[in-house]
Amino acid sequence: MDHLKSLIREVPDFPKPGILFYDITTLLKDPGGLRAVIDGLSGKYLNEKIDTVIGIEARGFIFAPAVAYALNAGFVPVRKPGKLPAATERIEYKLEYGTDSLEIHLDAVRPGQKILIVDDVLATGGTAHAVVDLVRNLGGVVVGLGFVLELDFLSGRERLPGCDVQALLHY
Ligand code: AMP
Repeated sequence: MDHLKSLIREVPDFPKPGILFYDITTLLKDPGGLRAVIDGLSGKYLNEKIDTVIGIEARGFIFAPAVAYALNAGFVPVRKPGKLPAATERIEYKLEYGTDSLEIHLDAVRPGQKILIVDDVLATGGTAHAVVDLVRNLGGVVVGLGFVLELDFLSGRERLPGCDVQALLHY
């Protein structure tokens, strides 16, 4: 998997000074790279009978539907506030400065359904932790979380205790 690192563009000082941004668009445009990532995120769960793969806005939307297709599962978007048209469940979570919110359609997850959550980057884990809570509030069972890459030094997985967390690449 580590050969995929050469396909990820590292952009210093984006979106603000001091942040090294991992740009996955250069990976997405590479046919072998894209296939390896989707195979990598789905492979572990092929026999788990996942009902739904949840993608987190925005870059989770790129990977989650393809993973869902590979697993013969459905896809559900978790979106920023005010984007979903029907009745929603909302969760507010802390950022470095201030708070943010995410929403899911109330009828998107039924109690007992087996859920896989997918996003591009696991950084501090704040976003992923919020989505785990959102799914559990609807009665869903979080079988695992899959990320293309994890920033190990931010210890995001410590905010996801008891969860099966998989990252294909570690920085
Ligand atoms: P966090 O809640 O801190 O785990 O942040 C996760 C979200 O922020 C993910 O959805 C990523 O898309 C994005 N993100 C955070 N840090 C980076 C980074 N250095 N490069 C690219 N995306 C990042």
